[in-house]
Amino acid sequence: MGFEIPDDLMVSVSGVRGRVGQGLTPEVVARFGAAFGCWLKERNDRPRVVLARDSRVSGPMYRLAVLAGLESVGCDVIDAGLVPTPTALFTIRHHHADGGIVVTASHNPVDWNALKFASAAGMFLDGGEAAAMRAWLDERPIRRAEWDALGRVEHDDRAVDRHLEAVLNIPWLDFDSLRRRRFRVVLDCVRGAGGVLLPRLLEALGCDVIGMDLEPDGRFPRAPEPVAENLAGLEAKVRETHADLGLATDPDADRLSLVSETGHAIGEDLTLALAADLVVRHRPGRVVTNLSTSRVVQDAVEAAGGKLDRSPVGEINVARTMQQVRAVIGGEGNGGVILPDVHLTRDSAVAAALVIQALLESGGTLSSLASRYGPYVIVKAKLPRGSAAVDALEDLAGRLAAPEVDRRDGLRLDWPDHRKWLHLRASGTEPIYRIIAEAPTAEQARELVEEARAALSAGREV
Ligand code: MG
Repeated sequence: MGFEIPDDLMVSVSGVRGRVGQGLTPEVVARFGAAFGCWLKERNDRPRVVLARDSRVSGPMYRLAVLAGLESVGCDVIDAGLVPTPTALFTIRHHHADGGIVVTASHNPVDWNALKFASAAGMFLDGGEAAAMRAWLDERPIRRAEWDALGRVEHDDRAVDRHLEAVLNIPWLDFDSLRRRRFRVVLDCVRGAGGVLLPRLLEALGCDVIGMDLEPDGRFPRAPEPVAENLAGLEAKVRETHADLGLATDPDADRLSLVSETGHAIGEDLTLALAADLVVRHRPGRVVTNLSTSRVVQDAVEAAGGKLDRSPVGEINVARTMQQVRAVIGGEGNGGVILPDVHLTRDSAVAAALVIQALLESGGTLSSLASRYGPYVIVKAKLPRGSAAVDALEDLAGRLAAPEVDRRDGLRLDWPDHRKWLHLRASGTEPIYRIIAEAPTAEQARELVEEARAALSAGREV
């Protein structure tokens, strides 16, 4: 009641994010903590909430604020400390907790931070859950606990151990052969939370690990998103050390990017493609990815004898669709791999284990494995969102006459015979349209983006 969300704060389905020293104040964070606690109390009078953070310098401050908010409404807190986001979500299910909050701005720059909210299922909130939770921010009165009913805190220092054990239990990992092969791996954790988990995982997989920025102090030495243009340092280190591959995570270690033995970032889409190929060959079944992910994943899945289903964009939409179709694996083209054997959330440790096993089974190099797929070029653009855009989308769909049209998340047009597609959707966090196209050549992809841009621009002027 009486609470206004500051203008420079971004509230979306998965949580709330903002800049340190600006909209994301400790007061706002405490308020979100209290609101989340009140929402959980609708079902359980004494909820237990897992709290975790990535390595950002502002993390300890926001941890205290969100902890105070949770305690103030009578939630008990299980503090997992500084751990990867997938470790935090795994911990929720281990404790049968009622939910969880992770203090992390994922791949955003160092001056950002955020809260991500998860349910008892160890999955991020979906649209309905997030809306119900947010009602406690501005419509419903926060009821504070009396002095003798405040929440209590307990610490869980085994969260990483348990998560690691679960990843090492993935059924297709051949430890004897992996130890004999002894892959030389350069690991770049960008001084994020991955440093507390991934080196241990790689050692357990028999790898010779060359670490880069494994200290989780939050002082990111590169732009933290693990996209190719940010991985020059890793590429150089792979060449210099004659490593078999390089692995890069984002600061909360749910995404994994690959660098081949030639010292080239091979694109984040390949992470899911290689992981899905391995899993489908061992366990034939369905695979889910979102509508904006490269065809590389579809090609890999179909070549392995599986079937690809697509979902609206957003990790929770992929995970929910995976539940519906009982997928054997799924994820996103940004390096986020989801394996239900471990849990229904993106996990860089799962991704690393599967990719290394896939490399072992291929018997060759990562660059030769990657060269089986594509070529594809993705071109992306943004456009301000106009009021007439819905009509413009329909005009575009009519004019381009694609054989496959999907309207579940904006508009996706697919020409399977030409191996090209176009996806236009409204951003969940900004007043823009995202346009993304993929085709065998850059020229074809750019052409599709220009068609979309022209259609939406015309729509705006109506
Ligand atoms: Mg992330």
